[in-house]
Amino acid sequence: MDCIFCKIANKEIPSDIVFENERVVAFRDINPVAPVHILVIPKAHVASVQELDEKHYGDLTEIFKAIKEIAVKEGIDKSGYRVITNCGKDGGQEVFHLHFHILGGESIGKLRCK
Ligand code: 5GP
Ligand code: ZN
Repeated sequence: MDCIFCKIANKEIPSDIVFENERVVAFRDINPVAPVHILVIPKAHVASVQELDEKHYGDLTEIFKAIKEIAVKEGIDKSGYRVITNCGKDGGQEVFHLHFHILGGESIGKLRCK
């Protein structure tokens, strides 16, 4: 499948990986919008939140465990951070492999911006 995040998960293209286990990989966003901008993905391809079903729930648990661990490693667990997943056209999704943005290292501001 021609999916850039599958290729990152399979190490077919390089990325700055900050966390990895059997089910999850996390790497720095190539175009960061905050001092800490990390993408957390399941290794198994699923396009977006809208495609999730029961077989993905284990991955979601691992993703949120990873997010907590990454926040500690990056030193933003106490200052705080935002977790975002964009879904579909109106959500602004550009890469159709489910991913959670971790944004932190400074105040991330209001929830919605146009
Ligand atoms: P979306 O808009 O789909 O929620 O976010 C996609 C994110 O993936 C963007 O923030 C973009 O900068 C990032 N991105 C796209 N291609 C690559 C890549 O090849 N490597 C890395 N590290 N990030 C990427
Ligand atoms: Zn994929």
